[in-house]
This record gives sequence, structure tokens and C-alpha cells, in this order.
Amino acid sequence: MPLELVTIPCLADNYAFLLHDAESGQTACIDVPEAAPILAALDARGWALTDILLTHHHNDHIGGVAELRTRTGALVAGAAADAHRLPPLDLALSEGMSVPLGREFGQVIDVPGHTVGHIAFHFPESGVVFTGDSLMAMGCGRLFEGTPAQMWDSLSKLSALPPETLVCSGHEYTASNARFALSLEPDELAIKSRASAIEQARAKGQPTVPSRLSDELATNPFLRASNPRMKAAVGMDRAQDAAVFGEIRARKDRF
Ligand code: ZN
Ligand code: FE
Repeated sequence: MPLELVTIPCLADNYAFLLHDAESGQTACIDVPEAAPILAALDARGWALTDILLTHHHNDHIGGVAELRTRTGALVAGAAADAHRLPPLDLALSEGMSVPLGREFGQVIDVPGHTVGHIAFHFPESGVVFTGDSLMAMGCGRLFEGTPAQMWDSLSKLSALPPETLVCSGHEYTASNARFALSLEPDELAIKSRASAIEQARAKGQPTVPSRLSDELATNPFLRASNPRMKAAVGMDRAQDAAVFGEIRARKDRF
């Protein structure tokens, strides 16, 4: 039986996620913007939190860890590389390691770019990946610490996961990301139809996260940096993929 996934809106536009194994009762929370909505979601289901998994050190992803740990006794896991700026870790992770949840294992993937110590968690059997502020719905995180080449490499690793994978990212930024995508490629049908679906979902107050990796491959401008039509759209027909990615990221910063 696949793990059960719950999406929890937090703060103004963040998401936390619960991943629950019914057989063992183990429950993980991925990122903790604030404790209260997560405690409420656990209470509503009668679940006991066993693990806290952190994608990166920014406060809007770890701000509620101390309270959630105190209230639940859950163990905290995050990147060894960022142990000095994460809450105290019970388990320090690096690429190639995995975190057990019931009978499944979450594979740790290094995805530097937004921050240098950013990691993602991929649960292959349930087909979900937790990407924080690396790959986002129709977008990607700002390059606060890493280079365009690093982020392009990170996104390329995530792109290689099975296309049906659910991408659980950290923010509801999708409507603005869709407007940016349309500004670059106004005639791409897949982008137009996804943008209008997103407008409709947001008008009804529905989340657009998680999203399907196959949809990201088709419509996320940052994953399209290797696509000849995107290269032409930004006037960089002969440029390397990472350079095209860097140009798209720079344009988004000004958008
Ligand atoms: Zn962040
Ligand atoms: Fe964030």
C-alpha cells in the first residue's frame, strides 16, 4: 500500500506535507513553516508524528521545528552540510542516504542552487518527491547561494525521476510562475492550458501543489532550458543549457 500524503497550507503561501504509513503508524512531516496547522492535521487523523524531514534552512521551512519536536518527540533529519544552520539534527543526511518510513525509504538527493545545502526526498514506491524551494510548480527557487550551473544540475536530477512522480514543493507561487512562463512562450499550448487551469484552481482557493513531474517537464520554463523552442524564445539558440537556464532565472528575478 502506498504511503498516504497530506498537503498542509502554512503561513501566507507555504506548504508542509505529512507522509503516513498505515501499517507501522510512522508519520513524517516534510518542512515545518509553523507548528499549529501541522499539529491540527495530525490530531484530525489521530496520527503520531515520528519524523521531521527538512529540505533547507530558511526560516519559512524550519520555523516551527522546535515546537513540533517538543510536542511530538519526533526525530529531526536534515542535510549534514547545513547542520550548523538547521535546528539540532538527530540524523544528518547526505546524498545517497535514505530515511525509512514504514517499508519504504526516502532517497536523499542533493539539489543545491536556492541554498548550497538544499536536499530533496524521493519516495520511489509511492511516487512522490519533496523538493522544497528547488523544483516548484512551474518554477524554481531563487539562486540565493548557488550558481545557475548548480541549479540546472539539480533540476536535471529531479527531471530524471519517473514522469508520473508527484512533486511536493514548498510554496503556492504557481499563478505568478504561470504568467512568467506565458510571457516567454505565449504560443505553447501546454503552457496556455495549464495556466488557465491554475487560474481556475486559485480562483476557487484550491492548491496547485503537488504537481505532476510530466506537467513540469512540459510547461515549467526552468526545465525547458534545453528545449530548442525555449532557446529560440530567449534568443540563445546555440547556448549551453545551463546558460539558458541562468538567463531564464535572471529574467524571472526581474519579472
Ligand atoms: Zn527557501
Ligand atoms: Fe521558502
